[in-house]
Amino acid sequence: MEEKKYDYLIVGAGLFGSVFAHEMTKKGKKCLVIDKREHKGGNIYCEEINGINVHKYGAHIFHTSNKEIWDYVNSFVEFNRYTNSPIAEFEGKLYNLPFNMNTFYQLWGVKTPEEAKAKIDEQRAAYSYIKEPKNLEEQALVLGGKDIYEKLIKGYTEKQWGRPATEIPAFIIRRLPFRFNFDNNYFNDTYQGIPIGGYNKLIEGMLEGVEVRTGVNYFKEKEELDALAEKTVFTGKIDEFFNYQFGKLEYRSLHFEHEQLNTPNYQGNAVINYTDKKVPFTRIIEHKHFEFGTQDNTIITREYPHEFSKDNEPYYPINDDKNQALYEKYKNLANKQSKYIFGGRLADYKYYDMHNVIDAALETVKKL
Ligand code: FAD
Ligand code: UDP
Repeated sequence: MEEKKYDYLIVGAGLFGSVFAHEMTKKGKKCLVIDKREHKGGNIYCEEINGINVHKYGAHIFHTSNKEIWDYVNSFVEFNRYTNSPIAEFEGKLYNLPFNMNTFYQLWGVKTPEEAKAKIDEQRAAYSYIKEPKNLEEQALVLGGKDIYEKLIKGYTEKQWGRPATEIPAFIIRRLPFRFNFDNNYFNDTYQGIPIGGYNKLIEGMLEGVEVRTGVNYFKEKEELDALAEKTVFTGKIDEFFNYQFGKLEYRSLHFEHEQLNTPNYQGNAVINYTDKKVPFTRIIEHKHFEFGTQDNTIITREYPHEFSKDNEPYYPINDDKNQALYEKYKNLANKQSKYIFGGRLADYKYYDMHNVIDAALETVKKL
């Protein structure tokens, strides 16, 4: 049989593809990574503009409680001490996130955990008939009651997902902490930060010594590309891989509007969420704050959610029952392919954070 030029063809130079390529190269395997975009890094890619690392595909904050994964990413680049503590704006007033004593004080003037618990119990009481929340609205009402739901959740969620909160899975809101102390840290994880010098350093470190071709769409030359390697690792959309034979999976997309401003500090925080449905964007990111930038100008990005179509990027899987059932059909097909390995946010159709993707890639390598 003809000797193949590569052991692995890796479709996608995002985190999954980069971790996989790094680990296999370390084991002496020959890898070729391709990406249809003109750069490496997938959705964590940053573009440096005037010394500011602009998160081109949305704000990314690394967080994990897994020490192995924290040590792994730190072996490529040092991380800073950035702690995400977004602010929410609703009808002209500001609130701290995630839901904590600061938020409860801002909402109701309550000053002690006891007062806050009493207030929330009173708010929740109206929904005690909901035993098992079936959707995000029910889950949010059971967790925090009407005021928090209507001021800080409903508008943001319905903009973000483009459907009523009653049609969105409950697990999505369980990502957010709910606490009775004055801690504004958005994550409960042990480790958190931003790579010093930006995410591109992390990806460059992983892909050092790996052959990468950007601007190459796998589907435009699938046969020729597959023929180059023993196995293909696919990190793109799983439904597209199988020619949409069971139908299209739904994704949520975003439109980013970047703006450069002649002021050193536009909003005083990296992330401000706009939880009012009347404001068309969900958040404004001020990138310099991720790295404590001292430049005399700034770059902000407004994030507008919208439907996914062939002309934009599939950013979020929509893990409702209908899509999940469709995904399972594709997954069954994927399990039968001996030449192909599937992984990452798009191929696994999962709402993965970065640490989940790294974990999944390392596990995939272990199993091979
Ligand atoms: P991707 O980064 O999507 O990489 C897949 C790559 O495959 C892409 O570069 C794509 O161009 C390429 N590709 C697809 N199809 C083809 C093809 N046919 N031919 C060639 N190439 C192809 N995680 C966190 O931990 N913290 C956060 O704060 C955070 N914020 C986020 C904010 C937003 C707006 C989004 C969308 C995600 C966020 N995430 C965050 C999640 C994080 O981005 C992902 O977990 C991670 O980047 C996924 O890596 P991946 O390799 O699976 O996918
Ligand atoms: N959410 C909300 N209000 C906020 C922030 C988040 O209701 O101010 C909800 C919303 O449904 C969102 C989910 O919580 O989709 C998860 O938020 P997260 O910040 O984790 O979203 P991501 O950064 O993944 O877009």
